Amino acid sequence: MTEARESYDIVVAGGGIAGMAAAAAFGGLGLRTLCIDPEAPVTDRDAAGADLRTTAFLQPSRDFLDRIGLWPRLAPHASALQVMRIVDAGGPTPSPRTIRDFDAAEIGSLPFGWNLPNWLLRREFVAALADLPAVTHRCGVAASGLLSRTGAAQLRLSDGSGVEARLVVAADGRNSTLRRAAGIGVSTARYAQKALAFAVTHPEPHRNVSTEVHRSGGPFTLVPLPDRDGLPCSAVVWMEHGPEAERLMALDPAAFSAAATHRSGGVQGPLTLTGGRRLWPIISQVAHRFTAERLALVAEAAHVVPPIGAQGLNMSLADIRTLTDLIDGAADPGAPTLLDAYARARRAEVLTRIAGIDLLNRASMLEPRPLRDLRRAGLTVLSGVAPLRRGLMRLGLGARG
Ligand SMILES: Cc1cc2nc3c(=O)[nH]c(=O)nc-3n(C[C@H](O)[C@H](O)[C@H](O)COP(=O)(O)OP(=O)(O)OC[C@H]3O[C@@H](n4cnc5c(N)ncnc54)[C@H](O)[C@@H]3O)c2cc1C
Repeated sequence: MTEARESYDIVVAGGGIAGMAAAAAFGGLGLRTLCIDPEAPVTDRDAAGADLRTTAFLQPSRDFLDRIGLWPRLAPHASALQVMRIVDAGGPTPSPRTIRDFDAAEIGSLPFGWNLPNWLLRREFVAALADLPAVTHRCGVAASGLLSRTGAAQLRLSDGSGVEARLVVAADGRNSTLRRAAGIGVSTARYAQKALAFAVTHPEPHRNVSTEVHRSGGPFTLVPLPDRDGLPCSAVVWMEHGPEAERLMALDPAAFSAAATHRSGGVQGPLTLTGGRRLWPIISQVAHRFTAERLALVAEAAHVVPPIGAQGLNMSLADIRTLTDLIDGAADPGAPTLLDAYARARRAEVLTRIAGIDLLNRASMLEPRPLRDLRRAGLTVLSGVAPLRRGLMRLGLGARG
């Protein structure tokens, strides 16, 4: 390994949304933080490679983003999610059979969450890091190796240089180089599904209602966005069996819009594709350990879930919040006891959520008629019993217990 030339309190490997949020949190505590990523973030909706997904931040995530100074930048662009509408459209053609509304007003005065496009999050997070004197944000360089010592870790970078830090935070995604470098394995479940992510305009206003339309293949979820070109607009995540998702990706925009309208059961009227489409493989994955000497795994380096119930990045922000709380005021941000406390606090919670999301995803894919009817009956029971419904809504928001 090359001699370490620079030294930081914390190095965050990975400047995705999770990595940049982590760097903002640690830098906000005054810790000298380096955030590296091989790619420069794409911060323009219409640029090649733009991340067209949206993230619904649930209440605990919004509170944390506020605490670390990011929320004031995001609030003007956020769309509130006041009502979650679940529609069962199983049957020969996708038409709504059962419709149930879950209203955030039943459990408090705030909406369930706030939706923002991922490309815009990148734009605002880049600007926030530039304003933090304790943070260095460096693109075009990857972490390529890790050598930990008792007092510090040495990180090898792809340009041949090295840096030293008391804590390395791996936010380098689902195929994490640092996780592998630390010898940490993963358990992965594959669903033979893919998710299409895109945006649509529609004639009917969404009235801040997020709608999930279920039928075999997976859910079709419309999430409110601000108007586009004077028309109501929603982000869509459409989960389908792999080959069907590939076929849909190949359709021309008009045929794709017609297919999306059909699959939605017409819940928002005719849908018109606006902008590009991206395809994402669907997996569940969890790392066997969340820490190693001087190393903490966060976000998709630690856990990946299917995009159901807006949990993925919200779980990642919970990792970062936990780590920030432990580090705040600690003498050594990479101390073994601190890392043990992080792993204890996060791993059990993550495993519980992964199991719940896996169950929901499998229920949502059910093909045989009796099982589809059971899914529909389950939805009726869940929404019909008030305490059960409220408990479910609180659980979805990330509340404990
Ligand atoms: C279709 C879809 C919809 C979703 N919707 C939601 C939602 O509504 N709400 C929600 O909470 N979650 C949602 N998620 C999940 C959420 O998008 C992910 O959890 C999140 O984007 C992952 O963030 P990340 O920073 O961990 O990983 P990534 O975004 O993959 O970032 C990893 C970064 O690490 C960099 N990197 C890679 N290798 C290295 C290296 N060796 N050194 C340094 N850097 C490296 C990469 O360039 C990349 O920038 C959705 C997911 C999908 C697929």
